[in-house]
Amino acid sequence: MKNIILIAPPAAGKGTQSKMICEKYNLVHISTGDILREKSKTNVELADLMKKGCLIDDNTMTKLVSERLKEDDCKNGFILDGFPRNINQAQLLSDMNININYVFYLNVDEEILKKRIVGRISCPNCGSVYNEQIDESMPQKTNICDKCGNNLIKREDDNEESFKTRYETYILNTFPLIDFYRNNSNLYEINSTDKMTTFNEICKVLNGEI
Ligand code: AMP
Repeated sequence: MKNIILIAPPAAGKGTQSKMICEKYNLVHISTGDILREKSKTNVELADLMKKGCLIDDNTMTKLVSERLKEDDCKNGFILDGFPRNINQAQLLSDMNININYVFYLNVDEEILKKRIVGRISCPNCGSVYNEQIDESMPQKTNICDKCGNNLIKREDDNEESFKTRYETYILNTFPLIDFYRNNSNLYEINSTDKMTTFNEICKVLNGEI
């Protein structure tokens, strides 16, 4: 069974890695950010909080995740991308009595993250992520998804100001999770540089090669 948590700073490539891992191992991708972005289309208050880079309250988040995890498709394994985001959420998740087999921590330098976030664009249809400022990550046609041909969009919170809040929030709230899970002994730290090296490192762990 592969029940996975992915912990990483904003723009570290959680979404991209989650998609690749889910495809390879046939797991369900649960991105709390994606779920909230969908909800924020009809909820102005939520949209505003997200745009500023603030966290949504723990009870709302835990209810949302616990309901999602009860669905049948999660029985064969899942990746939690974006949850838990703080110690309280981790404790609430542990109260759900769901076995988590792997916790991956993607470690990326702050300067690299800042560069990535400013040019990040993604496909609202298939979730593919590109970067309009980094040569090797550009789509083949400007603003069009290579995979499904949809128009690419920029996340409202992908700007320098919001990044600052999100990064500070990450250091203050999410980073302490590393020690929390290290003490539970199933934490795997990956020094995340490029997409494929990171993916291969994760696969080695999931294949039991490390
Ligand atoms: P992400 O796509 O994971 O970067 O999340 C985007 C935004 O959604 C965050 O900046 C928060 O505003 C909100 N969010 C996502 N997951 C959580 C969570 N577990 N707890 C609180 N807020 C969250």
